[in-house]
Amino acid sequence: MPPARRAATRGGAPRVGVLSLQGDFSLHAAALRELGCEPVRVSLPEHLDGLEALILPGGESSTMLRLLDSTGLRTPLERFVRERPVLGTCAGMILLAREADRLPRPTLGVLDITTERNAWGRQVHSFSGPVRFEPGRIELDGVFIRAPRIRRVGEQVEVIATRAGEPVGVRQGCVAAFAFHPELTADRRLHRWFLHDVAGLVLAEGR
Ligand code: GLN
Repeated sequence: MPPARRAATRGGAPRVGVLSLQGDFSLHAAALRELGCEPVRVSLPEHLDGLEALILPGGESSTMLRLLDSTGLRTPLERFVRERPVLGTCAGMILLAREADRLPRPTLGVLDITTERNAWGRQVHSFSGPVRFEPGRIELDGVFIRAPRIRRVGEQVEVIATRAGEPVGVRQGCVAAFAFHPELTADRRLHRWFLHDVAGLVLAEGR
């Protein structure tokens, strides 16, 4: 069951956080605004207060994990991602994963998958290509930038996006994560799905 639709009853735009220690805030923020949400920069523990949902963006997972410890965000974030809807993209997916390789600090570990970082081949660090997105039964253009591969999917985890049959998107309860960057295209269907179907938010009509 999605969480209560608190945003609708309060009447204001749903406040959705984007972790902003390092990595891309502005493109996720633009997508959130287009869908009628208020994006909130999260770089300190108090910024998590009152958020309906949170996005962990792409960037460099090792740097983000170090900054989680130096900003004091780790403990409140660990709590948030176990209680509230969260979307991780690329490095954000690595942060959520139970297991990942070559990291200086533990991940948040809330998503029962194993990721292998930078695992799409030495030469090809970046590419885009079709991704099958099961919830909408649609094809999306996936932009992969030094992306992780999903090497193991736990029993409680649903594969919701594939590229050539390989998992590139997963969901476990109200945690969703993708190896690619949905914010880098103009297609808002993945953000809309997360906000509406996973986070249970009522979005403005027609967006
Ligand atoms: N290679 C990065 C990491 O391991 C992820 C890249 C990205 O988020 N685009 O954290």
